Amino acid sequence: MKVEQFQAVRGMNDVLPSASPYWAALEETLRQWLASYGYCEIRFPIVEPTGLFVRSIGSVTDIVEKEMYSFVDGLNGEALTLRPEGTASCVRLVIQNHLLHEGPQRLWYTGPMFRHERPQKGRYRQFHQCGVEALGYAGPEVDAELILMTARLWKRLGLTEVSLQLNTIGSSETRARYRTRLRDYFLGHTAVLDEESRRRLETNPLRILDSKNPAMAQIIQGAPSLMEDLDESSQIHFDTLQQLLHDAGQAFELNPRLVRGLDYYNATVFEWVTPLLGAQSTICGGGRYDGLVEQLGGKPTPACGFAMGLERLLALLEMIPVWASRNGPTPEVFVAHHGATGWALRVAEVLREAGVRVLFHAGEGGFKSQMKRANTSGAAFAVILGDEEQARHEVSLKPLRGQGEQQRMTVSEALAIIKSNT
Ligand code: ATP
Ligand code: MG
Repeated sequence: MKVEQFQAVRGMNDVLPSASPYWAALEETLRQWLASYGYCEIRFPIVEPTGLFVRSIGSVTDIVEKEMYSFVDGLNGEALTLRPEGTASCVRLVIQNHLLHEGPQRLWYTGPMFRHERPQKGRYRQFHQCGVEALGYAGPEVDAELILMTARLWKRLGLTEVSLQLNTIGSSETRARYRTRLRDYFLGHTAVLDEESRRRLETNPLRILDSKNPAMAQIIQGAPSLMEDLDESSQIHFDTLQQLLHDAGQAFELNPRLVRGLDYYNATVFEWVTPLLGAQSTICGGGRYDGLVEQLGGKPTPACGFAMGLERLLALLEMIPVWASRNGPTPEVFVAHHGATGWALRVAEVLREAGVRVLFHAGEGGFKSQMKRANTSGAAFAVILGDEEQARHEVSLKPLRGQGEQQRMTVSEALAIIKSNT
C-alpha cells in the first residue's frame, strides 16, 4: 500500500540545517542592534481577532481584501486571523497592557507572518518580519532615529546596494482631499486601468498608486502629487525630518508615489529598496501611524515604526562572501566508545558540564568507522572509551589535528588539555 507523503503548505518554507546558521546569525545581529538603540522585545500571539486587522490595516487594502488567512474557531464561533503583520498586534498589546501609562515605548518583535499571496522568490505565504515600533513620540527626531537605525543595520550586515525612499502622505484630511483629486485624474484614464484599479477608484484611489501592473506605470507616473494638498503641520514635520537626515549624513530619495499598502499610515512613509531582488525590491517599509492607537481604543498617541522581511534580507546576505560560508555548531570533542556506553555517556556529560561542545557517537559502527566520523566532525579531539578505560575510570585522548599520539589519562587531565586547546 502506498502511504501518502505530506508536503508543506505551498508558500510556507522549512528551514534546513544547512540554512539555519544564517537565520541564527541574522537573528543574533538583530538582537544586538536593537539593544544598542534601547528597544525592548515583545511577543504576541500568531492568531488575533479578525476585526483587529480589518480596523487597522483597512478593509480596502490588498492584505484585508485577499491575503488574510481568516477562519471561524469551530469551538466558539470567534472570527480569527493568522497575523499578516505586527503593528496592529503591537498596538493591541500596548493598549491592553496599559504600557503607555509608564511613558513612551520603544518596542520590537520578530516572527512569522501569513499572507495568501502568489508564492515566488522573495514572496511567501509564511514569511518572517522583524518590526520596530516607537510609541508616544510626536517629533520627527524619532522618525530620523528609526531611519538611521535601519541604515546602521545594513552597515552591520554588510549590505551596500540598498537605498532609502521617503515621502509624506500628510493628515487624513490631506488624504481625503487628495483622494478626490486622484479619482478625478484616474477617471480620465479608465481605459488603462485594470479591473481592480477601476473598483478602487470608488473605494480607495490611493491604492492605485501602489499597483505593480506595468501597463499602468505611465498613468501612475503622471498622477497629481499629494504635496499640493499637504497640511501645514505635516509639511513642517517633513521639512524637519529631511533636515535632520541631512545633518546626520543620511542620503534619501524623495518618492511622491510612495503611499504604502496599509491604511494606518500618515505623514512620514519610507521604504528601503534594492535592485538585487527583482520585483521583490522592498526589504523594509515603515512610517508614522499617529491615529492608530486611538483608533484601536487607546488614548491618542503618536507612533512610528517599520518592518523588514527577513527572507529578503537573507537572500541579499547570501550574495555576500563573508555570509556565504556559515556552518552549524561544530563539536570540540567527539566521544567514541566500544563496550563502555555507560562510562562514555558519563564522560560526555562531565565534559559538557565544563562547557565543552561534545558530539557523542550513537548507533552502529565499529571503532574504525567511529574514528572516521570523528575526523569529519570538525572536533579537535576524540575521547575514546573501551573496557579498560571504563574499568580504571580513565579516558583515552586523541588529538584529531596535527601529530599528537593517543594517550590514556584521567578525565580531569583530559579536560585540562581540551580546555587549553579549544
Ligand atoms: P510588497 O510591496 O513587497 O508586497 P508590502 O508593502 O506588502 O510589500 P509590508 O506590509 O510593508 O510589505 O511588510 C514589510 C516587509 O515585509 C516588506 O518590505 C517585505 O520585505 C516583507 N514582506 C511583505 N510581504 C512579504 C511576503 N509575502 N513574503 C516575504 N516577505 C514579505
Ligand atoms: Mg504586499
